[in-house]
Amino acid sequence: MRIGILSRNRNLYSTQSLVRACKERGHEVKVIDYLRCHMNITSHRPSIYLGDDELAGYDAIIPRVGASHTFYGCAVVRQFEMMGVYSLNESVAVSRSRDKLRSLQLLARKGIGLPVTTFAHDTRASKNLISICGGAPLVIKLLEGTQGVGVVLAETTKAAESVIEAFRGLNANILVQEFIAEAGGADIRCLVVGEKVVAAIKRQAKEGEFRSNLHRGGSASVVKITPEERSTAVRAANIMGLNVAGVDILRSNHGPVVMEVNSSPGLEGVETATGKDVAGMIVSFIEKNAAKGKTRTRGKG
Ligand code: ADP
Repeated sequence: MRIGILSRNRNLYSTQSLVRACKERGHEVKVIDYLRCHMNITSHRPSIYLGDDELAGYDAIIPRVGASHTFYGCAVVRQFEMMGVYSLNESVAVSRSRDKLRSLQLLARKGIGLPVTTFAHDTRASKNLISICGGAPLVIKLLEGTQGVGVVLAETTKAAESVIEAFRGLNANILVQEFIAEAGGADIRCLVVGEKVVAAIKRQAKEGEFRSNLHRGGSASVVKITPEERSTAVRAANIMGLNVAGVDILRSNHGPVVMEVNSSPGLEGVETATGKDVAGMIVSFIEKNAAKGKTRTRGKG
């Protein structure tokens, strides 16, 4: 097969791992910097170019669109879809998963366990938000944040009110969320491929930190997940319409709660901690599922 990996940086661990997996399985693979692509949006012959070269003859693409380039990255994925090229994760699902609020609403609608989460435009509602979340301590999150940036733990009601006011004063959209203290600064990252969790790791925040992101100094280790966690992760990926996803789960007193569903999960942490060839499993999924024009909207948008 001819497979394109839409990634801005060929030196990233995840990109390299996918390139290796494609080559090992006998495929032709090219890393495509999607920001350097331009497109011809005609209905009779939609096409896409990288510099002067037309990108034609691809059987499948693997979108690895960065959070700060969702808009253009998804347009490029959509263009490939218009050309009948199979996308591992379809454009609609990628953009859906990038909107934290919309994602949580979709998951809630299908009965997935979530931390109590509130959202308001008007800061006059802040007292109410705080009381719905059960009071301090609670977590305040920038809707646009990634890798733990813009996730704040407010230990007292006063601190919560000030943080909400400050963020809203900057016109930022925020979520106010119940703090799952019993998670003990750990979360579970489940790597879903198709209908299965193929690898899971526990990420533990460093001493004195509640955010377990590896970018924030968290450490990864192998974890055995429960059947309930397994089915929650698979269902969450399914609801978002993602074939491949990293589903982040907190272990709460009331069972697993989903924090986020990531459409371009990093592979370094999971592959290194578990020793599994996750990239190989992703490419094998493409081999089984890629067919011309097969990408169709799934999930509920
Ligand atoms: P990002 O998308 O920026 O990674 P997250 O919402 O995943 O932001 O939060 C970052 C980290 O903070 C999580 O991995 C988790 O360890 C911790 N965290 C986030 N929300 C909560 C919460 N409600 N209760 C406890 N810990 C949380």
